[in-house]
Amino acid sequence: MKRIEFLHWVLEIDVDKTKDFYKKEQEVCTCLDCKNFRKACKYINSSVMELFLQLGVDPSKPSLLSEFGEEEDGKRLYIGNYHLTGKVVKGPTCTSSTWNAENTATFGDAAIGFEMDHIDTLSSPVLQIGFEMKLPWVLKDDLEQDE
Ligand SMILES: [Zn+2]
Repeated sequence: MKRIEFLHWVLEIDVDKTKDFYKKEQEVCTCLDCKNFRKACKYINSSVMELFLQLGVDPSKPSLLSEFGEEEDGKRLYIGNYHLTGKVVKGPTCTSSTWNAENTATFGDAAIGFEMDHIDTLSSPVLQIGFEMKLPWVLKDDLEQDE
C-alpha cells in the first residue's frame, strides 16, 4: 500500500492492484454521452487528473457514469464514480446523500469525494471516488457514430 497525501486526506492505495483492475477489459457503454466522456477525459481538471494518475485510476473507465445535460456554459455535467483498492486513513468520507462542501474537494469544474465500498471484482479494501465533472461536448455532432 502506498501512502498518498491529498489536501486534508491521507490515503493508502494499492496502486498496482488498482492499475491491474483498470487494465482489464471492461464492458464499455456505447451511448453518445459515455463516448463523449471518454473523448473529453483529457479536459478533466489537471489537479484531479494528477490525483487519478497517481492512484492508478484510468479516468476513461468509470464504474458508474451519468450525464445530467448541458450547463449554461455549454459543458455537460457528469456524475459517477471510480473504484480502487485502498482506504482513507485520515480525512472525511461521504456518500452521495451526505456529499457537501466540507467532505469533498472542488477544483474548477470538478468535485470529488471518497467513500469506502465493496465490489466483487476488486481486492478489498475498496475505496470509491465519487465525482462531479463538467466536460465539453467533443464529438463532432450528436449523431457521430465512429470510434
Ligand atoms: Zn452510456
